[in-house]
Amino acid sequence: MKKELLFMGPPASGKGTHTTELSKEMNLPHVDTGSLLRAAIKNETEAGKIAKEYVNNGQLVPAQIVARIIKERLLEADCQNGFILDGFPRSVEQADMLQDILKEVDEGRSDVEFIVINFDIDGDILLERIINRESCPACGKIYNRKFTPAKVAGVCDECGAALTQRKDDTKEVAEQRFKTYYAETAPLIEYYEKKGALKPLDARGDKAVVMERLKQLI
Ligand code: AMP
Repeated sequence: MKKELLFMGPPASGKGTHTTELSKEMNLPHVDTGSLLRAAIKNETEAGKIAKEYVNNGQLVPAQIVARIIKERLLEADCQNGFILDGFPRSVEQADMLQDILKEVDEGRSDVEFIVINFDIDGDILLERIINRESCPACGKIYNRKFTPAKVAGVCDECGAALTQRKDDTKEVAEQRFKTYYAETAPLIEYYEKKGALKPLDARGDKAVVMERLKQLI
């Protein structure tokens, strides 16, 4: 059975943190558009050059660009047994594009399970999470200076690399990212509900508790 998990939810709702762990446990690649776009920007690819301004302003990168990046990624060999998709789709337009992409990627297969998990959490604490968030560029582990700090400030517990903060994790850009989320992405809750694919996840509380709830759903 090919497991296609799609994680959606507002910025800093815990998608990345839980996916990093689950992806190792289930041996499924974590396909995260935010990271793919940040890599494209860093490598100054054609897509990266266009995406840079949108990402830095907390706005959605044009759908065609993200869809192309996602399609290429989902066609890679390590995605043939499934994947965890995080950060795509982020609009109804992108959800329609994903449907077409999956038709092509899964052509001839009848053993595909598609599940959408919606990380359900109040907006109030998310801004605090974002402005205190830092992550390890080497292993991807995510920390929060206030809620889940590294043992030694600024150093990854797992691999010892220096932690970094995302450029768009400032208060101003984060506020724009929330606006974008509620205007463009939240309508997908109803979109996937209608398709019967949506499973709501109570994403409040302790990381381990949320992880247990998540495992019950998949
Ligand atoms: P994230 O790491 O998921 O918070 O994404 C960081 C930024 O990348 C977003 O604020 C957008 O500018 C851009 N981005 C990520 N995923 C998408 C997407 N599916 N469509 C358009 N832009 C995206």
